[in-house]
Amino acid sequence: MFRTQAAFCQSVIDLHCDSVKFLSEGVDLLARNKAGHVDLPRLRAGGVGVQVFAAFVSASLPADRAFSTALALLDRIDAFAESSAYLVSARTAAECREAIASGKTGILRSVENGSAIEDSLANLEALSRRGVRILTLVHSRHTAWAASCTDYSVFSFGKPSGEPSFRGGGLSAFGKDVVAAMNSLGMIIDLSHAAEIAFWDVINLSKRPVIASHSCAYSLCAAARNLKDEQIKALAGAGGLVGVCFFPAFLSEAYRLAFESDCGDIFSEISFIEKKYTGSPALHAEYSRLDSRLASRLSRVRVPLSAVADHIDYIVSLGGEDCVALGSDFDGVFSLPEGMGGCDVYPAIEKELKKRGYSEKSLAKIFRENFLRVLAEHDGPAP
Ligand SMILES: [Zn+2]
Repeated sequence: MFRTQAAFCQSVIDLHCDSVKFLSEGVDLLARNKAGHVDLPRLRAGGVGVQVFAAFVSASLPADRAFSTALALLDRIDAFAESSAYLVSARTAAECREAIASGKTGILRSVENGSAIEDSLANLEALSRRGVRILTLVHSRHTAWAASCTDYSVFSFGKPSGEPSFRGGGLSAFGKDVVAAMNSLGMIIDLSHAAEIAFWDVINLSKRPVIASHSCAYSLCAAARNLKDEQIKALAGAGGLVGVCFFPAFLSEAYRLAFESDCGDIFSEISFIEKKYTGSPALHAEYSRLDSRLASRLSRVRVPLSAVADHIDYIVSLGGEDCVALGSDFDGVFSLPEGMGGCDVYPAIEKELKKRGYSEKSLAKIFRENFLRVLAEHDGPAP
């Protein structure tokens, strides 16, 4: 009943994976999943004490199906958490600690994309009652109330007239209500995917610490999804954190440049298949086909595992060791650094960080304690 911890000292909390797509397809994640990054054998081999499972709601899904989709995915996550004696549902910091202490892997729920609430605070409350502890405010496109960092269209915030509902902000008036409601519900606001303008609105409004669950440092790799120095300092200053993501296009500038310059034809195919297959079971197979093409085209750009440690070092240098965590994005990305196959990678990351002089205490913070601190600050009553 215990995780394999032979060569491994630290239990890990990973803040983001998209493995729910496999659960939706009926793939058995209790056995080794050759097509993906996360499964029970590797969660145990990697020392993963808590894995956050994101119920991911695609920005291309019709708006009136977003909430029901999120609920259906949460059902899948619940069923997975109950499917093995080695797994357990974890909602609070105390439950995460219990999971870790008992040698099980706790499953903590998040929802990726605020579109899931369909512009309703009642739906937000329903997700909270359902055990969702983290909501990523936006994904690849603006919602009606929050701006995305990868949507370059005008910030019209869903006004049918195309008139901006306000000027100079990243959240609509309703978006600000969402921030206040999440603060009072004790749901962690996740700013990965948020536009800078929305990021600063949230930093100025939120009364509890906020996170970027799966992002890296923009100064090392200028991807729109990464955080600029001032953003990292602001997250740290507010008691929040960055979960470092393992996607090579966010870790390595050379990989990002090759990705953006050499893959335009595949990107247009992606928007085509999203239009054609969103909501259809064939979508994942179509994505996988394009993912393999992307991965093979970019395989010449080598990104070492140590790139993860480079981003951790850099974020620590700006905000201190209390503001860094891990947010793999396993099963949400088409490639990983060299030597990384999935969620059994953490002993190798620990080894790399030890080589760089991190103490056991610092590693414990990065691997789990920083997130447990933020989660605990959301377990109590609103400030
Ligand atoms: Zn994401």
